[in-house]
This record gives sequence, structure tokens and C-alpha cells, in this order.
Amino acid sequence: MSTSSSQARTSELLALEDRFGAHNYHPLPIVVAEARGAWVTDVEGRRYLDCLSAYSALNQGHVHPEILKVFIEQASRVTLTSRAFRNDQLPLLCEELAALCRLDTVLPMNSGAEAVETAIKAARRWGYERKGIAADCATIIVCDGNFHGRTTTIVGFSSEDEYKRGFGPFTPGFVRVPYGDIDALEAAITPETCAFLVEPIQCEAGIRIPPAGYLRAAADLCRRHNVLFVADEIQTGLGRTGAWFACEHEGVQPDIYVLGKALSGGFYPVSACVGRREVMELFTPGSHGSTFGGNPLGAAVARAALKVLRDEQLIERSARLGPVLMDALRAIDSPVVADIRGVGLLAGVELHEPARPYCERLLERGVLCKETHDYVVRLAPPLVIDEADLLWMVEQLKVVLTGS
Ligand SMILES: *Cc1c(COP(=O)(O)O)cnc(C)c1O
Repeated sequence: MSTSSSQARTSELLALEDRFGAHNYHPLPIVVAEARGAWVTDVEGRRYLDCLSAYSALNQGHVHPEILKVFIEQASRVTLTSRAFRNDQLPLLCEELAALCRLDTVLPMNSGAEAVETAIKAARRWGYERKGIAADCATIIVCDGNFHGRTTTIVGFSSEDEYKRGFGPFTPGFVRVPYGDIDALEAAITPETCAFLVEPIQCEAGIRIPPAGYLRAAADLCRRHNVLFVADEIQTGLGRTGAWFACEHEGVQPDIYVLGKALSGGFYPVSACVGRREVMELFTPGSHGSTFGGNPLGAAVARAALKVLRDEQLIERSARLGPVLMDALRAIDSPVVADIRGVGLLAGVELHEPARPYCERLLERGVLCKETHDYVVRLAPPLVIDEADLLWMVEQLKVVLTGS
């Protein structure tokens, strides 16, 4: 294809999507046609290094061959039974996921937001039936700057106006405290608190890492006050931070893990709420469900995605490459940079200026990343990324930040 006709193809697709698709995103103007590992190719044949990984849904890299194999095999066998019947993949996924989380019971869903909703229902029911909170009085403590998804209940307790504007009225029963402030958490706990819902690192808020010891202290507080500690590790989990779960960095064992994104290696929406038996057993037949949740295709894909993380030692790889990335980033000397922070292969470069134009310049240089919270460039490449590619990416970042 000639360059001009492929450019026309890009323009045509951008125009089509803008005309017929709702404008609830502001994507960079690249139209991806295919991808493998850490690299994607656009419709014009240009290659880019993916440093967003679909917000960490692609920890295993694009179109991982082992997951693809399972995907095709399972898709040709059976894809959906509904939970009206059983299938031969879900029990195996539940067993594997419970062991991985050191918890008892798995409830599979599809999107991350649905798994968060599931955790909210679980915590509330536990609050009433086990903790003895009076009917409809349970509260869940969440943090300023939280991101837990886009359902009306979830955006209702967001501190971001743009997530909520025009979508009310919202679900009551949530109390917000400053993130990273253990005294504020303690002060907010009442006998009616059933859970504390927290991201171990706030990714959407700009890779905000809480003070050392915060998660540990929060988990201890929760235990002392009979409050469930619910960790949303949809983005931080499954190797992103150099551990299976970011909570492990502080030796914290949550009562409930909420997982999604990389749970399917980017092939298929698979999420799960994984919790202690005393909590999860309160779901009884008819109390909760999802037509596609726990389907055999999703379950098989999730099992393959977990196996790849384990077999290819991608958690160890993330732990090893994390410091390589941070050292390279810290060597960039630019007046535009306000702060650099990260754990494992999750890094945020906070600028004194809006980050979007820098992401656009990175796109021109063959690096895909996306600003978060206006001033932060989020770097979260697939965990399979080559070390040389990682350093090449930092070179491109250096060029756009320093002009040389
Ligand atoms: C992405 C994300 C969600 C929502 O997941 P969806 O699959 O988009 O519904 C929830 N919590 C966190 C921390 C996330 O990063």
C-alpha cells in the first residue's frame, strides 16, 4: 500500500469512529492493525512500542502464543454455558486463583467494574449478616483520587467531577478519606463500617504511591475494627509491580482481592472477586450473577494467562526491570520533570506541564503511552518487554523532554 493511500485509510477510520462512535475517550490518533509482544503496528505499517499495555491488561504482551493457542482450542470446543450449567474450565480457574490469592472463594465476572461491584455487595452483606450492622446502614470507606471503574455506584464515590457530572443521583453508603493518611482512615471507621476499599497504588490518579507502611497499618486497623480490607488490584496485580500483588510489598493479606485486566492477558474480559469463605459464602443462589461470568472461554484464557505469568517468570522480570527503568528515568535531566516514581514496571513521570503534548511527540517517535491526570506520563509496558526496548523507550522520552 502506498503511503498516501494508507494515510487516507487512517483518516477514513478516524472519521468513521468519530461520526458513529460515542466520544467518551480522547484517543491518540493511531489506528492499530496488529500487535505481538510489546510492539503494535498501525494501518500504515508503522511500528510502535506499547508502553501502556491497555492499562496493564497486556502484562503478558500482545497475542501471547500460548494464550492464543488455548483461546482457539477452547473457542472451537465450547464458549458459553451460562451458570445455569457447569463447565469444565471454571472449577480449575477457581482452584488456581484461590491458591494464588491465598483466599478461599472465587466469584468470576467480566469487567473490572463488575468485580468491584461484586466486592461491594459481598462486603455489605457480610456487614449485615456477620458484623451485625443495622439494615441499610453499612458504609464502605474509599479514598480520594480512587478509580474503581465506571458504573453509577462506583463513579458516585469518585472524587473526580468529570466521572460524575450529569450521572446522579448516586448510591449512598460510601465515605471518602485522603489517600495515604492512616489517621484519617482511623477517624472514619465507625461500628457501621463494613469495608475499606483501596488501590495499593492509585494508577489512574497518576501513579500515586502511598507512604511506606500505609497498607500494613491500614490492614491492621481493619483487623482491629472488624472491617474488611478490600484491595483493588485490577491494575497493580499480576506482576505489574514486581510481585504477584502489590499488597505483598507490605506483607498484607487482604480479605478480598479484586482482579481483572491482565487476568486474561488482553484476550477477553475476565475479572474476579476473590475472598475469604466467611464473606463469599453469603452469596446464595439467585443473589448475584452474570450471563458471561465464569464462561469456559474466559476461564480457559485466564488459566493460560496465569500460567504464562508463572512459566515465563514475568513477576521476577518485572521486579528485575523495574530498577533498570527507574535508574534510566532518573538519569533524564529536564526542567520539565517534577517527579519520577514507580514500582516494578509501573512508573509515572510527573511534569510541570500538561503531559498530552509529550505523549503526542512520543507517538511520533514510535512510543505509545498515555497521560494520566493531565500532568503524568504513565509508563507500563508489557512485562515481556526486552530490556533494550525499555531503554530505547527512555531514550525517546529523554529526547522529547530535553530536546536532545
Ligand atoms: C481498570 C480498573 C478498574 C475497572 O476495570 P474495567 O475492566 O475497566 O471495568 C477498576 N479498578 C482499577 C484499579 C482499574 O485500574
